[in-house]
Amino acid sequence: MKKYEIRLLTVLGILVLLAGCSEDDETQTNAEPFIYRIPVIVHVVHNGEEVGNGPNISQAQVQSQIEVLNEDFRRISGTNGFNSDGVDTEIEFYLATTDPNGNVLAEPGIDRYDGGRIIWPTGLSTSVDSQLKPATIWDPNRYFNIWTVNFGGFVGRNLLGYAQFPSNSGLMGLNEDEGSAQTDGIVVGYKYFGSGEKGNFPDLNETYNLGRTATHEVGHWIGLRHIWGDGDCTVDDFCDDTPISDEPNYSCETHVSCGTQDMIENYMDYTEDQCMSIFTQDQKDRMIQVLENSPRRNTLYN
Ligand SMILES: [Zn+2]
Repeated sequence: MKKYEIRLLTVLGILVLLAGCSEDDETQTNAEPFIYRIPVIVHVVHNGEEVGNGPNISQAQVQSQIEVLNEDFRRISGTNGFNSDGVDTEIEFYLATTDPNGNVLAEPGIDRYDGGRIIWPTGLSTSVDSQLKPATIWDPNRYFNIWTVNFGGFVGRNLLGYAQFPSNSGLMGLNEDEGSAQTDGIVVGYKYFGSGEKGNFPDLNETYNLGRTATHEVGHWIGLRHIWGDGDCTVDDFCDDTPISDEPNYSCETHVSCGTQDMIENYMDYTEDQCMSIFTQDQKDRMIQVLENSPRRNTLYN
């Protein structure tokens, strides 16, 4: 059974569809933690535009997104990803340097693909998953696949991105089978991919312009649920350190639900990019369990 988690634009009345310890030598005082370093290939799906125009986004825009992922997942001081209430997940991302045949990539981590259409109507059970992904995916045991597209159509117009959950993680809240190897990865609208603080990318949406759509979708891809658990106060995200919440938040205003203040700063809420800056310890623990156990996740890092 396929199941996806998605992020949607703020629209009134819109329905949310879907919803190790290493042994340290005690004499060493500065032992470095193990860092999960994940190679990324970004399939930049366009319609014949020149590089840097419309959905055929520039190398700089792709690089800006990878920087944001690392700032957020590593909670790097002095960046938008730093919050003293958050944790360093010890997960990093880097642009792949070679293709599956071992050839050096002209543009690290980028595979440009003319999809032959202006818009992609929606990510859910459409040609993105039935055609685009199988036609373009690189071995998901070796690469974390990201597709950038121009979303459109009735649902697609409000869609920021979506992700495929990991299979066989053993985690509460996830199914054994979360989807095919041919569709594994995340899809992000090109207007929400990258950071407007790191370059001049004029098509970026003004609200979702700091790269947090990808941070959110990567969170799903490594096993995280939305912090409101996609339900009311009786439904959880299986993380004790994210307060119970009854619905997504779309703004940066504080909000109390289910008797506690919602963690609107969490990357797994629906708040604006500028509000987001927290992964919690329990979320980190889920992600590490996925990277240690799930097929197509546990072979990726080095
Ligand atoms: Zn989501």
